[in-house]
Amino acid sequence: MSTTQFHRRRKRVLVTGGAGFLGSHLCERLLSRSHHVICLDNFFTGELDNVQHLVANPRFEVVRHDVTQPFSSLEIDEIYNLACPASPVHYQMDPVKTIRTCVLGAFNVLDLARNLGAKVLQASTSEVYGDPMVHPQPETYWGNVNPIGIRSCYDEGKRCAETLFFDYHRQYKTRIKVARIFNTYGPRMHPQDGRVVSNFIVQALNNQPITIYGTGSQTRSFCYVDDLIDGLIRLMESREELTGPCNLGRPEEFTIRQLAEQVVAMTGSTAGIITQPLPSDDPTQRKPDITIAREQLGWQPQIPLRDGLKSTIAYFADSLGSHPNKAQA
Ligand code: NAD
Ligand code: UDP
Repeated sequence: MSTTQFHRRRKRVLVTGGAGFLGSHLCERLLSRSHHVICLDNFFTGELDNVQHLVANPRFEVVRHDVTQPFSSLEIDEIYNLACPASPVHYQMDPVKTIRTCVLGAFNVLDLARNLGAKVLQASTSEVYGDPMVHPQPETYWGNVNPIGIRSCYDEGKRCAETLFFDYHRQYKTRIKVARIFNTYGPRMHPQDGRVVSNFIVQALNNQPITIYGTGSQTRSFCYVDDLIDGLIRLMESREELTGPCNLGRPEEFTIRQLAEQVVAMTGSTAGIITQPLPSDDPTQRKPDITIAREQLGWQPQIPLRDGLKSTIAYFADSLGSHPNKAQA
């Protein structure tokens, strides 16, 4: 065997939205794989606190930037495009900005990838299926999306971003990966972002009534963050021809009422459950078909809802304990 040492340059990875819930976990995992990680964020929903434990690492950089603005040329091998508010409360705060973030953000990361010959992964969403008429949802399903409703800025923004990804791929041979992420939860979710898992846990820990919107018969399939991050990295590192779209989620379906009851049982809340009006266009059912991820990536979620909820409840109990005024869901 030759004794020659081959020094491969360290992989440089850009994570847009890196200070958010998923982004911060992704940065952490990429650093543990010895990559150089650049976390880019405008801190709309993300917080420096989420990546504070990483800043002492010399392979980690934080850049304040808005993805709607072009990037200056960086030396980058891979880009994960996560920048976009993900909870309905946040993406509906400034819907026009949400569309700009989805569409101009996609143009800007794609131009960067095209100029550098880098690989780029889009964090797309199960929302591209809208209120699905096909159940569970395979990637071949084109969806049932209201183009003019209150969720459209996000749903149609993400659909347009997918279109751009595939047009850059066909037209310029840009190296793309598109992940369709289903509801993911875990530590570092924003306590006030209005998503169901964080709302229910924060309410229960504060001994406030849990708010079910509508009857609670609508379903979602919940994936724990560690599993999801594993799926994103596997997709990025998959063979070149595997562009996606690729569903990433846990194919186990729960009604929202079942989730509420589980959280009550696990926290011991005595404040009960109340109902509030269902927001418009709220999807009635959602469950991923993950055949592609299972067969092509060798991926499937490992962490059952109960175990994931346990870690998430522990996280919120700890963070709300030290910052009680954050607990106003
Ligand atoms: P999040 O709100 O915690 O994180 C989004 C991050 O993007 C934040 O740090 C925010 O400050 C940043 N950001 C927003 N607009 C930006 C802009 N214009 N320029 C730069 N940064 C910007 O949400 P998350 O749950 O971590 O979601 C991350 C990505 O994954 C999003 O693209 C979301 O659409 C997608 N996704 C998430 C889920 C989920 O269940 N968490 C499901 C489907 C898709
Ligand atoms: N939901 C609820 N109570 C809450 C927050 C959400 O009943 O306090 C419902 C919401 O109407 C939806 C489901 O939970 O049917 C999931 O909502 P979330 O915002 O987490 O995700 P999305 O609707 O984008 O899947």
